[in-house]
Amino acid sequence: MARDRGPITVNGRTYGWPDRPVVVVCVDGCEPDYLSEAFLAGAMPYLAGAAARGARLEAAAVVPSFTNPNNLSIVTGAPPAVHGICGNYFWDREAGAEVMMNDPKYLRCETILAAFAQAGASVAVVTAKDKLRRLLGHGMRGICFSSEKADQTTAPEHGIDDALGLVGLPLPSVYSAALSEFVFAAGVRLMESTRPDLLYLSTTDYVQHKHAPGTAQANAFYGMMDGYLARLDAAGAAIALTADHGMNAKTDQEGAPQVVYLQDVLDGWLGAGRARVILPITDPYVVHHGALGSFATVYLPEGVDAGAAAGSVAGLPGMDLVLDREEGCRRFELPPDRMGDLIAVSARHTVIGTSAAKHDLSGLDAPLRSHGGLTEQSVPLVFNRRLGDVPSRRRLRNFDIFDLALNRAQ
Ligand SMILES: [Zn+2]
Repeated sequence: MARDRGPITVNGRTYGWPDRPVVVVCVDGCEPDYLSEAFLAGAMPYLAGAAARGARLEAAAVVPSFTNPNNLSIVTGAPPAVHGICGNYFWDREAGAEVMMNDPKYLRCETILAAFAQAGASVAVVTAKDKLRRLLGHGMRGICFSSEKADQTTAPEHGIDDALGLVGLPLPSVYSAALSEFVFAAGVRLMESTRPDLLYLSTTDYVQHKHAPGTAQANAFYGMMDGYLARLDAAGAAIALTADHGMNAKTDQEGAPQVVYLQDVLDGWLGAGRARVILPITDPYVVHHGALGSFATVYLPEGVDAGAAAGSVAGLPGMDLVLDREEGCRRFELPPDRMGDLIAVSARHTVIGTSAAKHDLSGLDAPLRSHGGLTEQSVPLVFNRRLGDVPSRRRLRNFDIFDLALNRAQ
């Protein structure tokens, strides 16, 4: 390990050089109750003990409470207004097309990982789905691969040949708990072999979309995770764990999905296709949530007053908060050029869709659980070391985790 290096400044924040390997874990969809329930059930003996010896806090995730905006905030230490990634999709007004934002060209700033690698730290990243890999690894010298495509790694592209061989597990299905287990197994193998200075692990919320906190399946998943975290600790790593977002049931009492089909509503009010509803949760992997989340942005036709439209949409049953672009971007620290005229957030048990005909819910084999809104903003922050001097003047964010791990953990 490179020692005695000076602090690194990235996006206006300064980070001390790690004095031992630091592992930052982003557990996708980890509503704080998953940990509370698993601790109560005795499913996470290692982490329960480590949290008691170290620190356990709650923090606010980025809204939209989706995977990519939050992962990018965590690795840049900055909100989407700075890094630019505010969802999986945005509407490119100039091109007149929906554009996927998983290409690094949409990233507007440097990551903490790339900056440390540039300064000579050894850095490794393992993520579940390949959609995040290129964003997380942007500009970074080091190891960066996904579980999903661990069978295709090459030294020039991923910093490692044959990641599958290193991990020694079969290639997992993209829709499985094993996709996340592979991330942890890879992290442990890396820590026990190359021993990176900084290791970032990011899982997928396949389990959380199906199983509520405290269920046997959820506790089994967290129990699996606990075993790997214990091994990382035993290898001498400082562990810092957070989440990209929480998760809630999006159903009524009978378990039927509660959906506001906002495109259908706006078509009825304004005429077909005049407004455009963009759901930034939409991605190529929609089976477990049907592309339904609690956040949407709306592009209005010319001549429609945004304030009045926001008021009308806010009046729909199941909506939580509807703001115009300026106010929404200020409140949620989002990039105005990638958001529509309205920002709409639905309530705890309701999601927003476009048109009923466009959402295929046939792939749902469990009652709908999803995220995206303010009700999925609370996430855990857990450290296996004590934290000195945590600033109390403002609420903690999940993207303070590198600051806490590198500057405050003792
Ligand atoms: Zn999800």
